[in-house]
Amino acid sequence: MTQSRREFLNAGIALWAASLIPTTTIAAGPPELLETDPIALALGYKKDAATVDVAKYPKRAGAAGATQFCSNCALYTAGAAGLGACTAIPGKLVAGPGWCNAWIPAA
Ligand code: SF4
Repeated sequence: MTQSRREFLNAGIALWAASLIPTTTIAAGPPELLETDPIALALGYKKDAATVDVAKYPKRAGAAGATQFCSNCALYTAGAAGLGACTAIPGKLVAGPGWCNAWIPAA
């Protein structure tokens, strides 16, 4: 095999391998906030508001508390796939059906 043919084949293999890299990892936005994140723990954030410990966070207890979600919080801006930005937690996305103890009613 000549040197130029080997280089040609190596370049082809490199292009093929590069095509296997998912483009979503390149175009991904901010990551979703995990419940184990220190700020999530500090704020009592749950991605499913129904799982909030209302004994620990009585703000979400009762009929009025049950209506509180990230999606109707003043600090929430809806995005794609049920996630949105929260001004209290920059750089991470929170779940619309979620909740944390910093919840403020949207005007
Ligand atoms: S401040 Fe509001 S939008 Fe942000 S995590 Fe808490 S409840 Fe959700």
